[in-house]
Amino acid sequence: MPVRLATLVAAAAIVLSSHVADARTGGAPRVVASISPLHSLVSAVMLGVESPLLLLHGGTSPHTFSLRPSDARALDGADVLFWIGPTLEQPLQRILPNLRVTRSVAMLDAAGMELLPARELGDSDDAHHDHAAPYGGATAFADPHLWLSPGNAIAMSEEIARVLSQVDPANAERYDVNAAQLVQRLMTLDKDLRDKFSDATAPYAVFHDAYQYLEQRYGLHATGTVTTHAERSPGAAHLHALRASLASGRVRCLFSEPQFQPRMVAALSEGLPIRHAILDPLGSDIPPGPDAYFLLMRSIADTLSDCLRDDPQ
Ligand SMILES: [Zn+2]
Repeated sequence: MPVRLATLVAAAAIVLSSHVADARTGGAPRVVASISPLHSLVSAVMLGVESPLLLLHGGTSPHTFSLRPSDARALDGADVLFWIGPTLEQPLQRILPNLRVTRSVAMLDAAGMELLPARELGDSDDAHHDHAAPYGGATAFADPHLWLSPGNAIAMSEEIARVLSQVDPANAERYDVNAAQLVQRLMTLDKDLRDKFSDATAPYAVFHDAYQYLEQRYGLHATGTVTTHAERSPGAAHLHALRASLASGRVRCLFSEPQFQPRMVAALSEGLPIRHAILDPLGSDIPPGPDAYFLLMRSIADTLSDCLRDDPQ
């Protein structure tokens, strides 16, 4: 065998064996998560192994984002993408077929998820809601803001650990232990939120209908939304009806969101004895990581209960 060919074969063998060794010792998988609350749960399950990449950073609406070229590159070649599903990150659904993502896991399809049907709160311009745009499957009409229930966060954590253990069996034990600790923390959070919300029964209105899971779990009382479609501005008829409902005097708080226009919220309640506050279902200001989910939920609970209680400071 000519020397050069032998060298080549040897070099190829080294490359090959290092690849095999890499797979066997479980070189950490490249994991991407779409939104911060989901990324937080993935981070907690992956603690001690690797940090997942967060696709949509603070202030980006998952309903309407456009992926930057750098994000598309980061996503391209990922081993796992965790996302909520086509009815939340609609732009992702369009891009995904063009990317090499080995496994994409939609939380809407996860085992143990308690899904609520998308709803129309109060008056609305038309019967259609973009959140409920059908994409096929049993979850086509589910409200996608499912992370705002700690019960669903527990189901998500278990699904994340299950998927990662299949993709990266070398670290399966780590994922299992981390997920078990995460579930314990989520159960404590759930109990704390139940206490916090025990007297938060006054009616309120929100900017877009993201809080159904929280409301159902803790007995809260939302009466209306400013937008009927998270993707576009509300129509005049809807705003009229909402203004009338606010003027009826029953609504205590009107919550806006950092992703949307606060001026519209202010105009809607002008001259009415209605308190304002900002609720953020994504936690745009919270640093991403394992604690972000807990900080988000406690912050939402504080804001809601402070605004809704009888005697605010
Ligand atoms: Zn939304």
